[in-house]
This record gives sequence, C-alpha cells and structure tokens, in this order.
Amino acid sequence: MKDRYYKIIIIGGGASGLAAALSSCACLDRIKGRSGPAGGESDAGSDPAQNSCQAEILILEKKDRPGSKILATGNGRCNLSNENLNLSCYRSQDPDRVRDILKFYDGEWTRRFFESIGLYTKSMEGYIYPYNEQASSVRNLLETSINEKPRIRMLTETEVQFIREPAEDKPNPYYRIVTSQGVFYGEKIIITTGGYAGPSFGCSGDGFRIAEDMGHKLVPPLPALTALVSKAPFLKKLNGVRCRAGITLYIEGMKTASDQGQIQWTDYGVSGVVVFQISRYAVKALSASGKEKKRVLLTIDFMPGYEDKDLKELIRSLSDGQALASCGRPLTKAMESLFHSKLIPVILREAGIDGDEEKADSLTDKKWTKLLDAIRRFPLRISGYKGYDKAQVTQGGVPLAELDSGLQSLRRTGIYFAGEVIDVDGICGGYNLQWAWSSGAAAGRAAAEACMKSPAGVKAGK
Ligand SMILES: Cc1cc2nc3c(=O)[nH]c(=O)nc-3n(C[C@H](O)[C@H](O)[C@H](O)COP(=O)(O)OP(=O)(O)OC[C@H]3O[C@@H](n4cnc5c(N)ncnc54)[C@H](O)[C@@H]3O)c2cc1C
Repeated sequence: MKDRYYKIIIIGGGASGLAAALSSCACLDRIKGRSGPAGGESDAGSDPAQNSCQAEILILEKKDRPGSKILATGNGRCNLSNENLNLSCYRSQDPDRVRDILKFYDGEWTRRFFESIGLYTKSMEGYIYPYNEQASSVRNLLETSINEKPRIRMLTETEVQFIREPAEDKPNPYYRIVTSQGVFYGEKIIITTGGYAGPSFGCSGDGFRIAEDMGHKLVPPLPALTALVSKAPFLKKLNGVRCRAGITLYIEGMKTASDQGQIQWTDYGVSGVVVFQISRYAVKALSASGKEKKRVLLTIDFMPGYEDKDLKELIRSLSDGQALASCGRPLTKAMESLFHSKLIPVILREAGIDGDEEKADSLTDKKWTKLLDAIRRFPLRISGYKGYDKAQVTQGGVPLAELDSGLQSLRRTGIYFAGEVIDVDGICGGYNLQWAWSSGAAAGRAAAEACMKSPAGVKAGK
C-alpha cells in the first residue's frame, strides 16, 4: 500500500511528462541534496511518500513504453527544437504567457537539458535534431535517464481513469489517482497526457476530460498541422505529385495566412508541411456548424518568386523558339520543363486553353490573364480537413489564463498541466516539442518547489 504514495505523480510519459519528471527530480535533488530520498537531509517525518519507497516521483504511462510519439516525430529524425524560437511561431489565447515560459526555458536551456541526458544535438538550417538524426535516441536517452534516477519510478501500461480530490475535512493533501492498475496517491499531480492528435501513440484527450471535471473551461480542441480536403475533380489525377509552390489561404474572401514550400497532392486534397503550416486557420473556419461555417479557399502559386510579366516572357520565349531555336511550340510543350507533367493539363484546363493547339504568340490578352491566374493564383476550394489520426498536434486545450506562472491550475491547488493539453500550438519546425520540453520543465520545477514548501502531513500507516 505504501508504495502507492508519491510527492509528484505525472500522468502521461510523453515529451512533456518526461521533461517534467527530470525537472522535478533535479529540483528535489537541489533542495534536498544529491544523496537521494533515503539519505541526506531528511524531512520525511511521517510522510508516506518519503518513508515508503525510494521513489518520490511517479510517471503513469498508458502505453508499454514512454515517449512512443517521439519516435514518429520529424519523420523518425525528431526535430526537437528550433534556433529561431520566435513567438510568432506559436498560437494561443495568451501569447504573453507562452513567451514567459519560453524566455526562461529557451533554446540554450534545451541544449543543456539534452546534453545533461547525454544527447548531442545539431542544427540543420536552424532546425535542431539529435546529431545522429535518430528519434529513437531521444526517446531512449530520456527513458534511460529516468530509469537511472532513484527518485523516479515509471509504470507503463497504466491508464489513468480519473482523479479524486482530497477530502476537504481531512488533513490528507493527497489526490487519489484511479488507474487500470489500482489507486495511487499524489501530493502534486502533473497532467501531461497530450491532446487528441496521434491516437495510435496513446492520445485520446484524457487530460481534457480530467481538466473539465476540475472546472476548467477548455478552448475548444481541434486538429492542427493537418492535411486539407477538397472535392476538386482533378485530384485523382494529381495523386502523388509533389511541387514547390506558394499558397495563400482565404477565409470568406479575407487573406488569412500564406506560406511557401512543397505541396503533396493526394486523391483527397493537399498535404505537406506548407499546407500544415496554414491548416489551423482552415480547420477553425470549417469546424463551425451551420451558418457559422466559413468559405475556405486556397490559391496556389506554382511559380513563386516570378512576377506575372516575367512569367509571361518566360513562357513566350519557351513557346516561340527564342530560347530553343524551335519555332512555335504549343503551350503544352512550352510549359513542359516548368511544371510536373500531370499538372500542365490541370493548369491549362483551369485557364480554358487548349494547350495542344494554342501557342504563346496566338494568345489574346484575356487568355494570357487566365493563364497567368491559373499558374500564379490557382484556386482550390477547401471543403474539409483530415482528423486527429493525420494531424500532428491539437489546437486549443486548457487556457493559460486558468493556470498560474508555474502552470498550476487556478481551479485546483496541486494540479499542474504541461505540453499539448494546454492551449498552445506551434507551427512545424520543432516548436511543439520545444513547448513540451519547456512547459514540462516549468511545471515539474514548480510542483517540486511547492512540495518542499508544504511537505505532506499525512500520518504513516494509513
Ligand atoms: C507524426 C507526428 C510528427 C511530429 N513531428 C514533430 C516534430 O518533428 N517536431 C515537433 O516539435 N513536434 C512534432 N510533433 C508534435 C509533438 O510530437 C507533440 O506536440 C508533443 O509530443 C506533445 O508532447 P506531450 O507530452 O504534450 O504529449 P505526447 O507526446 O502526446 O505524450 C502524451 C503521453 O500521455 C500518455 N497518456 C495519454 N492519456 C493517458 C492516460 N489516461 N493515462 C496514462 N497515460 C496517458 C500517452 O500514451 C502519451 O505517451 C509531431 C507529432 C506527430 C503526431
């Protein structure tokens, strides 16, 4: 029974949960001396979390190993941070609070954190990866570091079902954590269950449900960094095509976001990092029901960096033979080297031009306008988005306004949140993992410091 009492219980052994465990352990080490809970200065008294067993911090993880999502990040390479930790790369209802956390737990802190667990990192154009580009090293070294700490115990295949509060009329400050493996008792609880994104990695929104049970009013969770769906008839023909392009998102005709990069065409719509980056706005606009649902349009620039007049000159030169000493090629041939072969008929059809017949020198001004529009402002009506099984993160969650500066709930003392369960989502590029490490470390440290300020007063031998 006694090995069920802990100073800190962390629910979810993902990126933020593992960072929270190591941070709270380091904090307890600092405060109590390095000799571990059984030795050194002792404030154990009659505290069962102190007397019963070595470990004072318990991680409860649903899956058979911690950090399974980390393995899938960065296409198996784990883009764990970014040199450019700019606030504009994050979305939240409280950006100032995101800035406060990232100011303290910044890029330099992250580098030291990973060095402290034996992980050497490198930057590739600002994107931070483990030096060997293997995500498994990140997971393995986090797990190894946890296992090396006598203060931390990890239980896998243990799913937390709900949390029961300490009875107010008793001097028992321990929350009851009801799990698939029985009940555990924790003085401070850190909820790091992630969101809904990546359900195969154990994420099913459990933290959201627990937060709502405690009276938190969530910013409605929705998928982010996800693919967009369209009913355009030509998609079947473009399935598998990749091309560099600039994209601009319009919601109800208003320019809302834009980006540039590689689009991946699929039979249902568009995917790829460039689409992920602007997807959260499209998802939000499309998720409203009835009259609230908004019109979402993507325009695609297949020749980013070209002005219309330069592009016209280029196509003209490729068509009329100035560039190739051939005479009067039809547009289909003239455009051959500019676009993927499957894209050319789609662009020409949008422009209403028969590319096998028409040549550049025979195009009217009106047709030139249509052709340039089809190349530089190709319209793709968006009708939906891919759900949590395809999304990389969840937008929305526990509002930062309902948490204190140590990410402790303002509704329930002793309950902390970190990671994706909080209303913070980043763009692609290492920003979401950075938030997981930083917020995990912040909550872990705050929980440990709070434990040391008010050691549990439960009588032993309950
Ligand atoms: C395919 C993919 C690729 C990605 N690539 C990148 C990338 O390269 N860079 C980047 O910055 N971000 C990336 N992300 C996003 C990033 O992985 C997440 O934002 C981050 O892992 C969130 O950390 P977290 O600790 O909040 O949650 P998670 O890492 O999701 O961990 C939550 C943990 O809680 C456990 N859990 C859930 N409910 C319970 C319960 N009831 N009881 C016990 N345990 C529970 C889960 O099993 C899981 O282990 C990617 C995401 C996906 C899906």
